[in-house]
Amino acid sequence: MSNIYDTIIVGSGPAGISAAIYLKRYNLNPLVISSGKSALSNTLIENYYGFESISGEDLYNNGIKQAQHLGIEIVTTEVVGLDPYDDMKVITTSGDYHARSVLLATGKARNKLNVKGSKDLIGKGISMCATCDGFFYRGKKLGILGSGSFMESELEVLLRFTKDVTVFSNGVDYKNPNVNVVTDEIIEVTGEDHLESIKTKNEEFKLDGLFVALGSANALDFANHIGMELDKNNNVVVDASFMTNVKGIFAAGDVIGGFMQVSKSVSDGAQAALAIKNYLKNN
Ligand SMILES: Cc1cc2nc3c(=O)[nH]c(=O)nc-3n(C[C@H](O)[C@H](O)[C@H](O)COP(=O)(O)OP(=O)(O)OC[C@H]3O[C@@H](n4cnc5c(N)ncnc54)[C@H](O)[C@@H]3O)c2cc1C
Repeated sequence: MSNIYDTIIVGSGPAGISAAIYLKRYNLNPLVISSGKSALSNTLIENYYGFESISGEDLYNNGIKQAQHLGIEIVTTEVVGLDPYDDMKVITTSGDYHARSVLLATGKARNKLNVKGSKDLIGKGISMCATCDGFFYRGKKLGILGSGSFMESELEVLLRFTKDVTVFSNGVDYKNPNVNVVTDEIIEVTGEDHLESIKTKNEEFKLDGLFVALGSANALDFANHIGMELDKNNNVVVDASFMTNVKGIFAAGDVIGGFMQVSKSVSDGAQAALAIKNYLKNN
């Protein structure tokens, strides 16, 4: 196995970078993995201590520069999965990384499926997790909704259970010679007690199951895959030391809800780093 980091921090916004700075200054070895886009993009911040007015982008870039100045390693890639039971593995589109602990600082997680009829069919033919539910659809006719790296990693799992998978890229130009692809936008899913079909403007597709893997993986996806507890607003639940119900996985910033502001994210990151330092002493 390659390098094992003390902590892998997923996210390079205020929470992730603040935690990285504190961990580094505790003489630990953090790695920051981030796809780059933070809630700070396209904002103007005028209520953060020490800055009369600063663009979100400048504040974000200042944080990255400060971390780099301290020698903190930052990798730009997309995290598509976590496996806490395999030497704390963080799975990205450019390979796997391992650590003794993980801090999720991935920002506010939003439910990505918002199509007529879908709400009542989640868990009844609509699944958010190929690893969790793919097994129940062996040999069945499946659809997968999405078009990015996260979808492709979920598709790979589904293809172990059935060869009959159609990718619904929902309006995005997507090509894959190994599977059927429907690019038209989805307008409705139908079914009484169980999913029956999915409709685009011009066609209807009968399906036994639909897996949702839109956009990048967020905390909801991670939670579905590893059994991490969420509250009713889809915020990651943490204890007083910012640890989730999954041992060694911590969370900070907007992803845990509460007052969603830069100041609180920076504070969460600092406190989580202290808690991680103490955790690493005993584990
Ligand atoms: C329009 C708008 C205006 C705002 N105005 C203010 C304001 O005036 N003052 C204020 O204090 N706050 C403001 N906020 C809120 C503030 O931006 C957030 O509270 C803060 O950015 C949260 O920090 P965070 O580190 O928790 O998450 P984020 O800053 O959202 O960072 C999340 C990080 O996780 C990474 N990530 C997510 N998923 C993955 C993945 N699968 N793989 C790899 N990386 C991933 C992202 O790339 C990003 O680096 C505003 C927010 C918005 C949207």
